[in-house]
Amino acid sequence: SRGLEVRDAVVRYGTTTAVDGVNLDVAEGEVLALLGPSGCGKSSLLRAVAGLEPLADGSVAWHGRDLAAVPVHRRAFGLLFQDGQLFAHADVASNVGYGLRVAGVRRTDREARVDELLGLVGLSGYGSRAVTALSGGERQRVALARALAPRPRLLLLDEPLSALDRALRERLAAELREILTATGTTGVFVTHDHDEAFAVADRVAVMDAGTILQVAPPEELWAAP
Ligand code: ADP
Ligand code: ADP
Repeated sequence: SRGLEVRDAVVRYGTTTAVDGVNLDVAEGEVLALLGPSGCGKSSLLRAVAGLEPLADGSVAWHGRDLAAVPVHRRAFGLLFQDGQLFAHADVASNVGYGLRVAGVRRTDREARVDELLGLVGLSGYGSRAVTALSGGERQRVALARALAPRPRLLLLDEPLSALDRALRERLAAELREILTATGTTGVFVTHDHDEAFAVADRVAVMDAGTILQVAPPEELWAAP
């Protein structure tokens, strides 16, 4: 089997059940939005897929391989959070190329890849800028470029646009969708924002109180909750 398969997943914090028996399939190359109100378990589910939170029950598989058998650092998933957590004292190029440098990619190859990534996120020519001089939207573009640098097959995004203003959020959501499509990256995008989910996703999974109520393409979902 291919893609991401979540089966009967349960995540607990003490006596709180944050994820209560979730089943979910995400096809390779698909972008799925996890949509629901704050506290419904979206982040916990995403973090469990990333291996950052243990499953109390159930399983997560990628390409038919149970992730319990794959160490977190070997999962080759990209992660992007609300605050991209850039290295404030490094320039844009160093931020984007950081993982490539750690992985031992040669300088000339790294520079070419960083240029390519900056082009992809609409920041060509920004390499030598200080990240502290960037707008919030530009910073998240840099964080996206950094997350895509190692060519992850699956990118997990937790409210990556939530710190930005509404007009920018919708524009970036549409751009993000194009970037994921262009790079063939499978995406799981957590958001509480209906419009954002509709702009970014092939399918939307509506979550409430730790369970998934419905999974459907945006055009088939009922009106905004
Ligand atoms: P969402 O991402 O939809 O806002 P979360 O997954 O963050 O939801 O939270 C789901 C539930 O689990 C909430 O009741 C939240 O308070 C609780 N929760 C999340 N993280 C923790 C934690 N580290 N310790 C205890 N409870 C947590
Ligand atoms: P999100 O909804 O995006 O997870 P939160 O503000 O709810 O954002 O959570 C931020 C951090 O606090 C996360 O690491 C989460 O696991 C943790 N957290 C959330 N709810 C609780 C809780 N009830 N008790 C302890 N930690 C929590």
